[in-house]
Amino acid sequence: MTSVARFFDLQVNGYAGVDFQDDSIEVEDLHRACAVMRGHGVVAFLATVITQDIDVMSRRLRRIVELRQRDELAREMIVGIHIEGPFISPLDGYRGAHLKRCVRPADVGAMAQLLDAADGLTRIVTLAPEHDANLATTKYLADHGIRVSAGHTDASLDELSAAIDAGLSLFTHLGNGCPMHGMHRHDNIIERALSLSDKLHPMFIADGAHVAYPALRNYIRAAGVDRAIVVTDAVAPAGMGRGHFTMGNWEITIGDDLVARAPDGSHLIGSAIPMPIAVQRLIENVGLTLDEALRLTVENPRKLLGLSGPTISMHIDTTLVGGTARPPAKAGAM
Ligand SMILES: [Zn+2]
Repeated sequence: MTSVARFFDLQVNGYAGVDFQDDSIEVEDLHRACAVMRGHGVVAFLATVITQDIDVMSRRLRRIVELRQRDELAREMIVGIHIEGPFISPLDGYRGAHLKRCVRPADVGAMAQLLDAADGLTRIVTLAPEHDANLATTKYLADHGIRVSAGHTDASLDELSAAIDAGLSLFTHLGNGCPMHGMHRHDNIIERALSLSDKLHPMFIADGAHVAYPALRNYIRAAGVDRAIVVTDAVAPAGMGRGHFTMGNWEITIGDDLVARAPDGSHLIGSAIPMPIAVQRLIENVGLTLDEALRLTVENPRKLLGLSGPTISMHIDTTLVGGTARPPAKAGAM
């Protein structure tokens, strides 16, 4: 499949072997991640930093800001930063893979420290509204023009509604960041968020593994193609095709479907499909038209942040990113 590509990805943790949480990355690494993403049709993205101690997150944010400043391509492509955590639910299942010891209630002082470290680049903060006392951090972020996104949360409908009144406007990777089993069949965080999708832009991971296609089709229908957004939530092995990888303490296997899993296949570890493959799956498996798929991956995220963004467009062949039925074998290690 060939598609017009000028993707705008609101959640990228790493790419092409480069982990944005890695304290040792250099400017060449950031450039390489950007260059490979550009080759896969991404023109702009939010580098994402996830839960750690506030000082560690601050150090990582400062490093990304500094490296970005030194590289022209990174300056052009990294149009902002997405801070995911640490103000999320500590409950297993909702917390996902975020470090339990570092998860904490929202705190304006700590938030201010993170914003300062990100030097004005923060565009989205993902937090759990039920762990934001008096919604003080949500209001603080909204006052600073930063989009607040609910994620890794089990907020009640009332808590979500109050957070919306305080400035909440997005929902992070809806359908994930919640337990696989044991949620109420009707009153659960997915249904609550969907019921408010006229006020919350839901973001989705469209690899078919994070959210099964029939559910994804329902969620996108409920939110509407003018409001839903697709992110990759990519981790470092993304964009490298199939293979076995080491990322921090994690061993990751990426198979023919380009989904990142534990080597025994038992669970997902981050996300690895490039945007053109997400578009291909939105068309072939979810039933969207190309125009609709591009609204979710190009127009909606760009409009959301009020960015005009680069206007270049290019034709790219998804076989270049392993989109064939049998992608070329490739192995690497990080
Ligand atoms: Zn997450």
